Amino acid sequence: MVKLSSRISTIKPSPTLAITAKANALKAEGRDIIGFGAGEPDFDTPDHIKMAAVRAIEKGFTKYTPVCGIVELKDAIIGKLLRDNQLTYKRSEVVVSCGAKHTLYNLTQVLFEDGDEVIIPSPYWVSYLDMVLLSGARPVILKTVEAAGFKILPEQLKGAITARTRAIIMNSPSNPTGAVYTATELAALGEILAGKEILVISDDIYEKIIYDGRKFTNIAGVDEEVRKRTVIVNGVSKTYAMTGWRIGYAAGPEEIIAAVTKLQSQNTSNPTSIAQWAALEALNGNQDSVEVMVAEFRRRRNTIVEMLNAIPGVACMLPHGAFYVFPDVSSLFGRSHSGGIISNSSDFAAYLLDAADVAVIPGVDFGNDNHIRLSYATSLKNIEEGLKRISSAVKRLS
Ligand SMILES: *Cc1c(COP(=O)(O)O)cnc(C)c1O
Repeated sequence: MVKLSSRISTIKPSPTLAITAKANALKAEGRDIIGFGAGEPDFDTPDHIKMAAVRAIEKGFTKYTPVCGIVELKDAIIGKLLRDNQLTYKRSEVVVSCGAKHTLYNLTQVLFEDGDEVIIPSPYWVSYLDMVLLSGARPVILKTVEAAGFKILPEQLKGAITARTRAIIMNSPSNPTGAVYTATELAALGEILAGKEILVISDDIYEKIIYDGRKFTNIAGVDEEVRKRTVIVNGVSKTYAMTGWRIGYAAGPEEIIAAVTKLQSQNTSNPTSIAQWAALEALNGNQDSVEVMVAEFRRRRNTIVEMLNAIPGVACMLPHGAFYVFPDVSSLFGRSHSGGIISNSSDFAAYLLDAADVAVIPGVDFGNDNHIRLSYATSLKNIEEGLKRISSAVKRLS
C-alpha cells in the first residue's frame, strides 16, 4: 500500500469537476445528459484573442518567460486595474499565474499556516475551503441567508474575528449564489476591518458578468485603508471564455507578490508563454465580445429563474451576477421515488441525474444543503429542455 501524505488526505477532489466528469462519462455511454454542472462559458474564445496566440507561436514566443509573467501582460493588467477599478499598482505588485485557481492556491500557501483562521462566507466556491485546509489554517465559515441576499452583515463579520484571524476571502459576484455586494455594503465591512491586521483576498473573477445595472466594486475600491491589505485575484477565464488557457493574476502588497513568485519559481515556473500573449490581447483588445456574452447570459438567467420558480417546491432568487442560479429545493425533502427518499441536496442531485438525465451540483458542496447549483453557461435550448425534465421529475415524486 502506498503511503500518502497526511496533507493530501485533508482535502477532497473538486465536486464540480467530478460531477462534470461523471455527466461526460454517461454521455459517452450514449445517455442524453443535459449538464448544468460546468463552471465555464460555453462560448468559443473570441477570434482576435486566438489570433494573438497564433502570432505568438509564429514569432517564437514559445520559451520560458519571467516567473511572474511577461512585462507586456503585467502592464496590461496594471492598465486594466486602473481603467476598470481606479486602482494603481506597480509591476512588483502584480503576478501572473496558471489560472485564478492557481493564484488563490499560491496565496493560501504563502499566507496561512497551522493555527491561523481564515473567514469564508458561505455559500462559498468549493475550492476556498480545501485550499485553506491544505495550508493548515482553519476555515471559519460565515453562513449567509437568502433573505440577506446571501451577503454577510457587518455584525456577523465582527463576531467572527478573533486574534487568530488572518484573512477573509470575498467573492462578488458570487459563485454559487450570483450575489453582488454594493459599494455601501463593502464600505460597512471595511469599517469592521479597519485598524486590524486582517488581509482581504478579493476574488473578482466574475467582475464583468453582472446584470440589471449593478456596478462592480471590490473592497479595495471603497476603503483606502483596507486596500493596503487587499490582494485582488482575477483572470481571463470567465470574461473572455478562456478557461483552458489558464491565465489568472493577483495584485496586492509587494511582499505577498514576491512570496507567490518565489513559490511559482519552485513549482510551475511561468504561466504558458502563448496563453500570456492571448491574455494580453484579451485585456487590451476589443471588448465587444464581453457585451455579447453578458447579454446572452442575461437572457438565459431570466429564462432559467422563471422556469425554476414555476416548479412547485422550488424557489429561486434572481442573481445579479456570474452565471449560476442557486435555487432552494428544501421543501422537496421528505418526498420519495422508487429509489428512496430525498433527504438532502445530494439525494436530489442524484435523483435528477438518474431520473431526468440532468446534472446539477448539490448545494452541500458550497456549504448549503438546502440548495442546488445550476450553471446557465449552456444554450437556451438546453435550459428549456433541462428544466422541463426537472419539472417532470419533481412531479413524479410522491
Ligand atoms: C472559475 C473560478 C475561479 C478560477 O478560474 P481560473 O479558470 O482558475 O482562472 C476562481 N474563483 C471562482 C469563484 C471561480 O468560479
